[in-house]
Amino acid sequence: MIFFHYINVPFLVAFSIPDACVYIIGFILIYFDKLNIYVWLIYSWITFYTGVTTVCIGSGYGFHLYCFSMIPIIFVTEYIAYKQNRRSMKALPVSIVIGIFYIIYTSCSVYFGPVFECSHRHKTMLWSFNAFIVFCFLISFTYYLIKVIIISEEKLKKAAQTDPLTQLYNRHYMFDRLENITNEDKQCILAMTDIDDFKQINDTYGHNAGDEVLKHLSELARKECSDCEISRWGGEEFLIISYAPYQDTVAMFEELRKKVETSPVSYDGKEINVTITVGVASRCSGQDPDKWIQIADNRLYYGKNNGKNCIVVNNDV
Ligand code: GH3
Ligand code: MG
Ligand code: MG
Repeated sequence: MIFFHYINVPFLVAFSIPDACVYIIGFILIYFDKLNIYVWLIYSWITFYTGVTTVCIGSGYGFHLYCFSMIPIIFVTEYIAYKQNRRSMKALPVSIVIGIFYIIYTSCSVYFGPVFECSHRHKTMLWSFNAFIVFCFLISFTYYLIKVIIISEEKLKKAAQTDPLTQLYNRHYMFDRLENITNEDKQCILAMTDIDDFKQINDTYGHNAGDEVLKHLSELARKECSDCEISRWGGEEFLIISYAPYQDTVAMFEELRKKVETSPVSYDGKEINVTITVGVASRCSGQDPDKWIQIADNRLYYGKNNGKNCIVVNNDV
């Protein structure tokens, strides 16, 4: 009002009253959770308002620029409504309509000239100010939006690669890793690790106790095999990739086996003894992941059939 009074356009001074009313109604609509009506009201009003001001005083003051800042908000509003399962306006047709309005009223104002001729003293300053606000908004909004997308993609990626119970990698991630290792023809060592008589643990102490055992073993594996990639391959089986030299890797798994054997799990006032059997296989050049896993698996089952609670590095004997 002050500005329009200053440039001597009484019509726009009066027009600021319905403008203020629209925003007050907007607050009331938000208060009563009528977001869909609010969004329609505000977007229609901003389009109308920028049209009226541009037709009245011309495009030289930059009021029409605010139309540009509405477009990304409209799309984000539709996305938020979709996430909250609410009804929403369709961003694409609404943006097209706003664009058409924009072209019509700016062309009219250029073609016919402004309805009210007013002082040009502060025109450039106000145009720069409005352009500055719109640019600041678009830059910060887009910057923030991209940051949010990157963070949520990282969260999704982590969830897709992680086993929810143990927070270790899952089978899906490990398959990708094994494919990469094969493509790069890397030399590393695979260990298929299985809890001995786990079914009996479940049957004796209950399924929740079994889950505690899985978490406990995961913690120990994380500590003892800190430089390895550890996954829950399925059930009570863990697949571990070690990049350390062969002898160090075997010693590390032996250390893990001993640690598991000597650290019983406390559950519901009881001590649960746990042991593991591990089948270890180095990768031969040109070997595909399935064959490699198969060799580790064969060694694991050799260990299962020969007393359990051991590390098997070769089952050819
Ligand atoms: P072995 O020493 O030969 O490996 O015998 P095992 O009893 O460990 O193996 P078996 O394959 O007979 O049983 C595995 C059990 O693991 C059966 C299944 O109910 C249990 N299991 C699989 N996933 C989970 C889980 O997420 N939580 C719990 N508590 N148990 C699970
Ligand atoms: Mg088992
Ligand atoms: Mg098993």
